[in-house]
Amino acid sequence: ISGSLGVALYPNDAQNADNLIVNADQAMYMVKEAGRNGFGYFTAALQDAAHARQSLIRDLGDALPGKQLAVHYQPIVELATGKIYKAEALLRWQHPERGLVSPAEFIPLAEETGLIHEIGDWVFYQAIRELAQWRELLVPEFQISVNVSPIQFRERQGSDRVSFKGFKKNWLNALNGLGLPGESVVFEITEGVLVDERASVTDKLLAMRDAGIQVALDDFGTGYSSLSYLKKLDIDYLKIDQSFVQNLENDINDQALCEAIIVMAHKLGLKVIAEGVETELQRDLLVGFGCDYAQGWLYSKALPADEF
Ligand code: C2E
Ligand code: MG
Ligand code: MG
Repeated sequence: ISGSLGVALYPNDAQNADNLIVNADQAMYMVKEAGRNGFGYFTAALQDAAHARQSLIRDLGDALPGKQLAVHYQPIVELATGKIYKAEALLRWQHPERGLVSPAEFIPLAEETGLIHEIGDWVFYQAIRELAQWRELLVPEFQISVNVSPIQFRERQGSDRVSFKGFKKNWLNALNGLGLPGESVVFEITEGVLVDERASVTDKLLAMRDAGIQVALDDFGTGYSSLSYLKKLDIDYLKIDQSFVQNLENDINDQALCEAIIVMAHKLGLKVIAEGVETELQRDLLVGFGCDYAQGWLYSKALPADEF
């Protein structure tokens, strides 16, 4: 047994016992987040951060009804031909006062509060509506990748929400309604999804796969990079994390890792997408390694649908 201790001091941190305890509590949570088994002092910065977080969580509740969310699209380029028939849907939040808030900042809050269910559904419906148009007008085999959070694979809490069965049925119905085959959609998941045994996520993922939906493993190389998951699950694409691509020009270790990931993936029958390709030299190295697809600012940033 170990302990985590938060410290608040009278009279600087609070003027009464209740507030002292609240602030000591906050300091304790910080210690727990930092790995537990230690102690920490309450600070004003800690309080500011907690307030900022709380107000962002409050505002996030208005984002969807207030039409502050948008889906942008980033092309995924086939390296052998230079053709574009895939894109990743990336969520954007235009906050009325703060301006553009990064998904890296607000997705974790949406996951924590459960809002990710509504937001994730909305991203999916939005993306497939646009996809249906592009398939009709531009490229018949166009395919959209949608990021799916681990939380979306868990059962929803409360009776007014839809269960995973509902989520699956609704999403597939929506695809059918637009005349889209399962193959027109890729789910981007992180390894965190596969580690979460308690939700038996793999079964659910396999059920989606039965409908033809493809699966990409996002940010590969940064997490567990477990080879057993690659074997166990029918994954279609590996996305090499941009941290490997970033230093490709100068770092021979990153070159070796990228090449090894690509060779391994191909042996397992998977296609590889390199993320965060910003320079021609990076692209050329990846082409040399036999990489299948690239995505990054060299080609385009994520764009609103009409610009895309
Ligand atoms: P991700 O899925 O790995 O997406 C790739 C991120 O890299 C995107 O950041 C993209 O804009 C950025 N990027 C693309 N090309 C380049 C490049 O050449 N250089 C650099 N430096 N960055 C590049 P973004 O849009 O800020 O999204 C961050 C993360 O937020 C995503 O990482 C994804 O995990 C999450 N996210 C975004 N949209 C959604 C969503 O609709 N649902 C869920 N659950 N998560 C989302
Ligand atoms: Mg992604
Ligand atoms: Mg990624």
